[in-house]
Amino acid sequence: MSRLIFLFAIAAVVYLLLKSYRSNITDKKQEFTEDMVRCAHCGLHLPKGESIRAGEQYFCSAAHRDARQG
Ligand SMILES: [Zn+2]
Repeated sequence: MSRLIFLFAIAAVVYLLLKSYRSNITDKKQEFTEDMVRCAHCGLHLPKGESIRAGEQYFCSAAHRDARQG
């Protein structure tokens, strides 16, 4: 039974990859430049969607956000 779930998970991942690949083709430039932000604490570059925002600054983790503020 777990095998079925595993196959379903793979299908879902493939679907999502194809979907993101398609959207990348349509506005590749915009996404690439706008999606990356820099952690204000350690300088690490990471996708905006994975970053933690505090005010006007972005952080790679909650620990770095707290380190900056506290
Ligand atoms: Zn950081």
